[in-house]
Amino acid sequence: MRILIVEDEEKLAQSIKKGLEAKGHAVDYVLDGQEGEQRAEMFADNYDLLILDLMLPKKNGFEVCKSLRDKGLTFPILILTARDTIEDKVLVLDNGADDYLVKPFSFEELSARMRALMRRPTDALPTELQIKDLRLNPSTREVYRGEKKIDLTLKEFEMLNFLMRHPGQVKEREEIFTHLWDFASNALSNVIDVHMKNLRKKIDDGYDEKLLETVRGVGYKIEG
Ligand code: CA
Repeated sequence: MRILIVEDEEKLAQSIKKGLEAKGHAVDYVLDGQEGEQRAEMFADNYDLLILDLMLPKKNGFEVCKSLRDKGLTFPILILTARDTIEDKVLVLDNGADDYLVKPFSFEELSARMRALMRRPTDALPTELQIKDLRLNPSTREVYRGEKKIDLTLKEFEMLNFLMRHPGQVKEREEIFTHLWDFASNALSNVIDVHMKNLRKKIDDGYDEKLLETVRGVGYKIEG
C-alpha cells in the first residue's frame, strides 16, 4: 500500500514511516495540514490510506478531512489525536474520518487499525485474493500456487497484491511505481522489471498456465 502521513511531530512521522516500510508499504509524510491536503488531493489515486494528525500547523486535521471528503475523495482516513473525549470522537467521524487513534499509541495498535480499515466494505476487499490456482492472503501475507507455498520479498508481495486487485487490467510501470515507492525514493523504474522478473519466476516457472504477463512497452497484468 501507499500511505500518506500528515503529522507535525517529525520524529513520530518518521517512526511510523519506518515501521510501515518494514511491512512493505510505501510511505510519504508532510508536516502541515495545508501541504497534506494538497498532496492528498493531487495524488488521490495513488494513496490507499491517509494518516492524519488533528492539531497541525496551517490547517487542522478536522478541516483537512472535511475538505477532502467535500471534494469527493474516498480513501480511508485514520486520525491521530492527543485528546480522547466522546465529543472529539463524534466530531472526527462527522468530518468524514473512518477511525481514530489516541496518542500515545503502539505500532501494533496502529497496524491493527489499519488492517481493520482495509477490511471495510467500502473497499470490498476479500480476505483472500484468488486468480486461477494462485491465492494471496493480505492478512497472513501468504501466497500459494496450488498447494505450493511461494515465498516472496516485501516488494514482490506488494506488486502481486496490487496486480491481483486489478485482474485482467494492464498496469503501467509508472502506476505500479507510484503505488509502491515513495516520493523520496531514488529507485529507478526499471527496478520494477527486475522485481517482476523474479516474481514471474516464483509464480509461473514450471506451470503450463502463465499468469503474469508483460505487455511490451506498457506494463504488466495478471490474467483475470
Ligand atoms: Ca500535532
